[in-house]
Amino acid sequence: MLKRLGKVFNKRKTANKEPHIIAAGQHPVTPDDISRGATEVVKTLEDAGFNAYVVGGCVRDLLLGMHPKDFDVATDATPEQVKEHFRRARIVGRRFRIVHVRFGREIVEVTTFRAHHTAKSKQGRETSKRTQEGMLLRDNVFGSINEDASRRDFTINALYYHPTDNTIYDYANGLVDIDSKTLRIIGDPATRYQEDPVRMLRAARFAARLDFALDPDTAAAIQPSATLLAAIPSARLYDETVKLFMNGYALDTWRQLQTFNLDQQLFPESAALLDDHEFYQTFIAQALTNTDERIKNGKHVTPAFLFAALLWPAVCEARLKFEAAGEPSARALQKAAADVTGRQVSRLAIPKRFSIPMREIWEFQPRLLRRGGQQAFRQVEQPRFRAAYDFLLLREQSGEDAQGLGNWWTQFQDADEDEREAMTKTLGSQGRARKRRPRKRKPGQDAS
Ligand code: ATP
Ligand code: MG
Repeated sequence: MLKRLGKVFNKRKTANKEPHIIAAGQHPVTPDDISRGATEVVKTLEDAGFNAYVVGGCVRDLLLGMHPKDFDVATDATPEQVKEHFRRARIVGRRFRIVHVRFGREIVEVTTFRAHHTAKSKQGRETSKRTQEGMLLRDNVFGSINEDASRRDFTINALYYHPTDNTIYDYANGLVDIDSKTLRIIGDPATRYQEDPVRMLRAARFAARLDFALDPDTAAAIQPSATLLAAIPSARLYDETVKLFMNGYALDTWRQLQTFNLDQQLFPESAALLDDHEFYQTFIAQALTNTDERIKNGKHVTPAFLFAALLWPAVCEARLKFEAAGEPSARALQKAAADVTGRQVSRLAIPKRFSIPMREIWEFQPRLLRRGGQQAFRQVEQPRFRAAYDFLLLREQSGEDAQGLGNWWTQFQDADEDEREAMTKTLGSQGRARKRRPRKRKPGQDAS
């Protein structure tokens, strides 16, 4: 049905003044598909005399037969007016003020229609501000629904659904693009990336998650604009990066990022090593495959492990340099971990609750060699053991020869007390901490 509709629409690059209206029965969405919270928000705002629509990713996902992650509402009520009508509502954000309305565990994000920032804008610096490069520091100029549509990022995200009359309003020809699986930015791509460079990361994320192809103009402007990401505050960049890898499509997203050299913006030190070191390529791909697998199986994933993997190439290389300068191996690893983390957090503000366990995972790697006497018994009791062991398995899975160390630990964990004793006894000198002189080695060849 959508296919037929899609064909009759013309492709235009900017949002339309008049939307294409897709009435009930002509599209697959029903009011029952909309969450209780979003339905309630629309109804309450309409009863109060405002206009309100369900908008954005949820409409897109429903049209694609996917399960929306959350529901967003757009309205002509200001944030203050929205807040007034709900008991559990909170205005959040400064660059982009929105209202979070809570219904039990659900949070509905309510945004006021945004308008373009023009010199004529009556609203002052508090509402609109941009840098010399054109990046929007504040995006709080309010406007009409069609202005709002043209301020959204991609055509497929500018679909407005009205649950009361079960109608979709398509302002940017998003349905045509849903039909042809095309991700197309609204307006001039370079300008839109300049206003908000995070849109480039969003492009990579949506292309991967939805399995859409980027429209050629949308794609072509990314690489030349990639360095603009340096201006994004590290806290926002961290949040956006987590979204890239924690949605079950981490590997595909990573491939998209690599296509546009965006990996270099997020993880410059690791990215610089990948071309020349196949092991690191394999290692990161394997880590992301495992992450996707865990998410599909409903297992827990932590940013600590994810970042430990993404930064491991940088840590290994930095460690080699310290070793070459005469540092003992474990000390070299500690120093490398501290240095790489320090440089990385100025770019992505990885919170301490993740950066500390991330470093512990790295520093645990050489300790996994030490199994003699009571050491193995003590190691398994450490809070970081499980993650460190998983990390060791990941290294082996990626082709590193750790001389069966992962397997040894797997057996040790499965064994009863007597078997454990026997395992540590048969280790001989192997299980003791190795004192060794620093030596040059290729990445991925060493067990520690
Ligand atoms: P998902 O929630 O599945 O990640 P989404 O498209 O709903 O995808 P949100 O971040 O929830 O993404 O944003 C909701 C909507 O707000 C988007 O669909 C888009 O219309 C608009 N939007 C979000 N971020 C931007 C941005 N940086 N620039 C322009 N519009 C944006
Ligand atoms: Mg959303």
